[in-house]
Amino acid sequence: MTWKDLVYQQVVAYCNANGSRTFSLGSFFDANVDPFAKAYPGNRHLRQKVCEMLQKLRDEGLISFLGNTGNYTLRGVELLDAEKAELDTLDISHEPPRRKEYLVETYVRNVRWARRAREVLGCYCMFDACKNTFKREDGSSYIEVHHIIPLFEGGEDSLVNLSVLCAHHHKMAHFASNQIVHEVEAMLLDRTHAFLTAHPC
Ligand SMILES: [Zn+2]
Ligand SMILES: [Zn+2]
Repeated sequence: MTWKDLVYQQVVAYCNANGSRTFSLGSFFDANVDPFAKAYPGNRHLRQKVCEMLQKLRDEGLISFLGNTGNYTLRGVELLDAEKAELDTLDISHEPPRRKEYLVETYVRNVRWARRAREVLGCYCMFDACKNTFKREDGSSYIEVHHIIPLFEGGEDSLVNLSVLCAHHHKMAHFASNQIVHEVEAMLLDRTHAFLTAHPC
C-alpha cells in the first residue's frame, strides 16, 4: 500500500469511528501514530509525510480544507457508516440521490449542525423576504437547517455552506427544477456570506 492510500484509508476509518467528516490534522495524526509508524518504521518525519499526503488527497478531491480553521473534510465517500445505518432504518435506500441527500441531511446531519446554524443564522427563513418561522409548544422557534451546496456535490460541511429555511422553501431548495435550485443556491450563498461578514463569530 502506498503512503497516500494508507493515509486515505485511515482518514475514512477515523471519520467513521467519529461519525463526522470533519477532522483536524492534530487529532487525526495522534490517533494514527501507531499504524503509520508500523507501516514505515524508522521514518522520523511521519507527521510531515501525513501532511503531504493530505495535500495530495485534496488535489484529487478526496478531502478538502475548511477555510483557515485547520480542519479537513472527507469528500471521497458518499455516506459514513453512521449515515448508512440511519438510511437503513429509514428504508429509503431506493430513493434517487437528491432525495436521499435531503433525508440524510434532515435526519442525520441536523443533529450535528442544527444548533450551531440556528445560533449564528437565527430562526427566520432566509429565502427572499420569507422570514417564516413558528413557535413550538416548548416555546422554541421551528426552522430547518440546509446545506446550500450538497456535500455529495462538493459543498463544505461548515457554516459558510449552511442556511436556515422554512419547510416549504427547504423542499423547494431540493426538489424544484434544476434552474430554480441553482438560483436558490446562489441566493443563499450570498445571504449566508453577508450574514457571517456582518456577524463574525
Ligand atoms: Zn436541505
Ligand atoms: Zn421560507
